[in-house]
Amino acid sequence: MSDKIETSGALVVGGGPAALTAAIALAQAGIATVLAGKRPPRTDNRTTALLAGSIAALEQLGVWALCVDKAAPLMTMRLVDDTGRLWRAPEVKFEAHEIDLDAFGYNIENPVLIDALEARARALANLRVIDDEVTAIEPGDEDVTITLKNGARLVAPLVIGADGRNSLCRAAAQINSSEHKYHQVALTVCLRHTRPHHDTSTEFHTTTGPFTLVPLPGNRSSLVWVLRPHEADAIFALDDDELALQIERAAHSILGKMTLEPGRALFPLSTRTAARFGAQRIALVGEAAHVIPPIGAQGLNLGVRDAVTIAELAGRAHDEGRDVGGGDVLIAYDRARRGDVASRGLVIDIANRTLLSDFLPLQGLRGLGLYALDRIGPLRRAVMREGVAPRVRRPQRHNAI
Ligand SMILES: Cc1cc2nc3c(=O)[nH]c(=O)nc-3n(C[C@H](O)[C@H](O)[C@H](O)COP(=O)(O)OP(=O)(O)OC[C@H]3O[C@@H](n4cnc5c(N)ncnc54)[C@H](O)[C@@H]3O)c2cc1C
Repeated sequence: MSDKIETSGALVVGGGPAALTAAIALAQAGIATVLAGKRPPRTDNRTTALLAGSIAALEQLGVWALCVDKAAPLMTMRLVDDTGRLWRAPEVKFEAHEIDLDAFGYNIENPVLIDALEARARALANLRVIDDEVTAIEPGDEDVTITLKNGARLVAPLVIGADGRNSLCRAAAQINSSEHKYHQVALTVCLRHTRPHHDTSTEFHTTTGPFTLVPLPGNRSSLVWVLRPHEADAIFALDDDELALQIERAAHSILGKMTLEPGRALFPLSTRTAARFGAQRIALVGEAAHVIPPIGAQGLNLGVRDAVTIAELAGRAHDEGRDVGGGDVLIAYDRARRGDVASRGLVIDIANRTLLSDFLPLQGLRGLGLYALDRIGPLRRAVMREGVAPRVRRPQRHNAI
């Protein structure tokens, strides 16, 4: 093991989108930052629907200009009840212009987003990026020491744990987490189709979960299809032509004939929430803090808000000459983020459970809720605004979202 210890203002652990966003935000807040992470696999075929609040944050962080030309705007969102049940909800269509937005957000392929974040990270003078695994994290009274696989040791008064759902940082901070596994799996694939999507994302509500087509540039879309595990396995095993046909049928041919792009994946659905979002000079960001099912496009949008919030709080402490990793910063971070994370998780859980339930009154309630959303203008606009750019309790600072 090397004796050399490098010190910095903050250390970010993780190589995914939450880690990169946090590292860029901390560096832009004036804190000398080191990012140590293993990159996510280049084979990730998922896309991320980034909502308006996240786009605003990525613009301020100098990232969005690097990838906007490869993203597709989401101007209309359609919810279609495809359960075939007795009490079916009405179709609900939301238009971005109803809340004075050009788009609710943009859909982008994960590797394209990561490339843009990495390019921005490498351009910042006070941000050093190390491509390596962190093998040990030791919190102390004054600072935290991390050890890399190559033996190097790094020290900082604040560590951002953005190392995903099985976070080493969370374990090092002795923060418990609770997990719930759903009996559902998401199948993801990208597609070409013969009809245009008209910048519309369409979510068919089925008895196994949502089947959601989200626009990509051109006549292309990404699909997240939530299924029961045995159905997911059977559909996943189909060859490309058979799978494309099944998808076209499930989509009622609204986008015409489908052709699959290379790569498909299955993601078991689960939630996991950390009991606290910070302790022992370690703040948890992204899936290290909260995992939610891929329904309603909230996961990374929460992660972006985590990243910006901790950077604002640590940046303010830095400007005022206070301890950037002190207990007051971590408590303020937990308070600022908990309500947002809990409310999104709850809404997604209720939406998912009422869809799966065979209990007729519950199905009726779901239908009534969607009916109200369809008909009551102020309610629809409030829900749309809260969905894309929520009023989160947060510190006010220059790079707020
Ligand atoms: C099917 C699907 C669709 C989704 N769609 C959307 C969407 O439309 N909109 C949305 O907002 N969200 C969406 N999400 C959620 C989103 O993908 C996640 O919230 C996001 O990827 C989490 O990013 P992260 O950086 O927190 O974690 P990860 O992406 O898991 O990154 C963690 C990183 O840390 C690295 N790492 C782990 N341990 C170590 C270590 N010891 N040392 C160094 N590095 C380490 C890993 O290699 C990895 O690179 C979707 C999720 C799924 C499954």
